[in-house]
Amino acid sequence: MQTRLAGIGVDSLKGVGPKVAQKLEQLGIKNLEDLLFHLPYKYQDRSRVCPIGELRQGESALVFGQIEAADITFGKRRSLVCRISDGSGLMDIRLFYFSMAQKKQFIRGQYIQCYGQATLVGRRYSMIHPELTYLREQDSPVLEQGLKAIYPSTDGLQQRIISSLMEQALTQLKRARVRELLPEKWLTSLKFPPLVDALTTLHKPPLDLSLSALQSGNHPLIQRLAFEELVAQHIAMLKIKHRGQQRLAASIPEKSNYAAKLISDLPFTLTTAQQRVIGEIEKDMARKYPMMRLVQGDVGSGKTLVAACVMLNVVSNTHQAALMAPTEILAEQHFKAFANWCKPLGIKAVLLISKMSAGEKRDALAAIESGQAEIVIGTHALFQNQVIFKDLALVVIDEQHRFGVEQRKALLEKGWGDNQKQLHPHQLVMTATPIPRTLAQTAYADLDLSVIDELPPGRKPIQTVVMSDSKRDAVIERVRQACLNDKRQVYWVCTLIEDSEELQCQAAEATYEQLQTVLSSLRVGLIHGRMKPAEKQRVMQAFKDAEIDLLVATTVIEVGVDVPNASLMIIENPERLGLSQLHQLRGRVGRGDKESHCLLMYHGQLSKNAQQRLEVMRSSNDGFVIAEKDLELRGPGEVLGTRQTGALEYRFADLVRDSHLLTDVYLCADEILSAQDVVAEALCNRWVRHADSLSQV
Ligand code: ADP
Ligand code: MG
Repeated sequence: MQTRLAGIGVDSLKGVGPKVAQKLEQLGIKNLEDLLFHLPYKYQDRSRVCPIGELRQGESALVFGQIEAADITFGKRRSLVCRISDGSGLMDIRLFYFSMAQKKQFIRGQYIQCYGQATLVGRRYSMIHPELTYLREQDSPVLEQGLKAIYPSTDGLQQRIISSLMEQALTQLKRARVRELLPEKWLTSLKFPPLVDALTTLHKPPLDLSLSALQSGNHPLIQRLAFEELVAQHIAMLKIKHRGQQRLAASIPEKSNYAAKLISDLPFTLTTAQQRVIGEIEKDMARKYPMMRLVQGDVGSGKTLVAACVMLNVVSNTHQAALMAPTEILAEQHFKAFANWCKPLGIKAVLLISKMSAGEKRDALAAIESGQAEIVIGTHALFQNQVIFKDLALVVIDEQHRFGVEQRKALLEKGWGDNQKQLHPHQLVMTATPIPRTLAQTAYADLDLSVIDELPPGRKPIQTVVMSDSKRDAVIERVRQACLNDKRQVYWVCTLIEDSEELQCQAAEATYEQLQTVLSSLRVGLIHGRMKPAEKQRVMQAFKDAEIDLLVATTVIEVGVDVPNASLMIIENPERLGLSQLHQLRGRVGRGDKESHCLLMYHGQLSKNAQQRLEVMRSSNDGFVIAEKDLELRGPGEVLGTRQTGALEYRFADLVRDSHLLTDVYLCADEILSAQDVVAEALCNRWVRHADSLSQV
C-alpha cells in the first residue's frame, strides 16, 4: 500500500523549519497534498530571447540588448530611463525608484538582459522596473529550460523556496499516492487525464509545452483541475444550503385574504412573471424550514409588489414581516407605498430609520416589540440591539447587493434570538442587478432563484444615444429645452474618477457650478455621497416634488428612487462604468408615461472594448442581455461587484473560461453529494479554504 501524500507533513521536506512552516500554513498548506494543490497562477518564459521588434503589449518577455543612453527625465514623475537596442528595435527601461549607483551602471555599450512586462509608451515599448542582469560583452544571455511556474505566495516566502519544495513533493508523487476524488465515470466521459499527470505538468511544464497552450486554459490538464475545483466549490455551497434546511421555520400556508384584496384594488393586474414568482415564494414558505430565495428582476419589474403580497400572507398567518432597504430615501418611499396598501386592510405598518426623532423611534420600537406593528420597513436601523421583534417570520432585503453579508445575517438573527422554539425567519433577497444564469447558479448556489423576466405592459423603452463630449454645448441646449419647453426633469450623472469618491464629488460640484451658470433659467440641484444624509434627503425630496429641474449627481442615485417625471439622463464618462451599473443608473428614467432618453457622453477616444460595451447599452434595454455581455467583456468580478466576488475567488478555475463545464459540474456535484459524503468532504478540504465565507446570506 502506497503512502498517502496527505499523510506527510511539509516539515519533512528539506528547507522547512518552523518559520517556513508557519508561512506555508498561512497559505493553507500543511501536508504534501496541500502543497501540490497550491497551483501556479502564471508562468514565465525565460527559455528564449524575444527580439524587441516582436514584443507585444502587456506580455512579459526576456530581452537581450545593448545600452544606448540613460537619462533622468522629469515628466509626470521623475524617472531614470535607459534606452536599449538589439538591432530589431529600441526599448526603454524605466525606473521610478533608483540610486545614483544604478544610474552609473547604465553605461553606453553595456550588454544587458531584462525580463519584464512590455508596455507601449507612445510608440516605443517600455519595461517598468524589469529584472536586470548585466552581462559582459562576450556573455550570451542566461536562459532557463522550459517555463517557470510562479506561485501565489505570502510576505517573506520566496518563489525560490516554494519551487524547491515543489520539486521535492513532485519526486515523492512518483512513489506515493494522491487521492483521486472525481468519480471514474466523469473522468471517462469528459476524457480527463489522470490527476497525477495534471499536477506534474502544471508544476513542471515539459519543454515542448508552450506558454500559449497553458494560458489558453483549454488544455485538458487544466480543465481537469478546474472542473474538480468547481465541483468542490459547488458542493461546499450546497452543504451550506442543506445545513440551512435543517433549521426550523414557521410554516406560512397560503391565506390569500389580504393579498387578494390588495391585488384586486390595484389599478392594474400583476404580470404573469410577478404571479409566478409569488407562487414560488408561497410554496417555499409553506415548508417548515426557512426559505432562502433570491428574486432577480430588472429595474421597474415590480419587485416591491411581489414582496408586499408575500409579506401580507405572513400577516394573515399572524406573524411579523420586515423589509430592509439600503437608503433612507428608499425606505421612506417603500413605507409610503406600504402604508397606502395596508391602511384599507387595517394592518399596521411602521417605519424605522435613524433620522426619526427619539419619540418616533420609541413608538416604533414599542410597536415592533408588542407585535402591534405587523409590517416593519426600515434601513440598517432595523438590526440594532434595541430592536426586538415579537414574532418575525419573514425578512425581505431589497437591493441585496448594497448590503454586506454581515448586515444581512444580523437582521436574520432578530427572528430567533428570543423565541423558545428556535424558529428562523424565511428570507427573501431582491436584486435589480441581473446576473447571468450560469453565474447565478454558481455564485448563489445556496439560494433558490426566481426571476421576474417581464416588465409591466406599456413601458416605453429608453432611447439611448452614445456621443462624444465634444458635443457638450449641444447637450446643454437640449437639457434647457427639455426642462423649459417640455417640462421634463433631468439627471446629469458624473461618474467615478480614479476610484476616488472625493474626486467624484469634486467633479460633481464643478459640473454643478458650471451648469448653474450656463443654465441660469433652470433650477439646478446637486447630490453626492459626501453630503449629510439629511441634506441628500432634502435634495432628493425637492427633485421628487419637482422643485428642481436638473439634478447633478454622482452614482449615489443608483438605487431605487422613483421620479416619474424625470425622463432625460446624461451620463458623463460612461466608459468608466460596468454595463450593469449603467443599466441601473439608466433605470432612474423611463418610469413615467413619457418617452425617455439617455445620453452617454464619453470623453476622448474610446477603446474598442469600450465602443462595444456602449453599443450594447445603446441597442438593448434588457438587463439580462446586458449582464451577459458584461460578463463576456469584463469578467465575473465586474458583473457581481466586488462584494460578492469574495466567495468566488477560485484558486484555479475561471468562470468565464470554464463556463462550458458548469452544467456537468452541477450534475457531478449533486451525484457526489447524494452518494458519497466522505468524498464530498475530502473535495471541500482539498479546495475550499474558507467555507464559512462562501454563504451569501
Ligand atoms: P422594482 O422592481 O424596480 O423595485 P418597483 O417595485 O419599484 O420596481 O415598481 C415600479 C413601478 O411599477 C411602481 O410604480 C409599481 O407600482 C409599478 N408596477 C408594479 N407592478 C406593476 C404591474 N403589474 N403593472 C403596472 N405597474 C406595475
Ligand atoms: Mg425596487
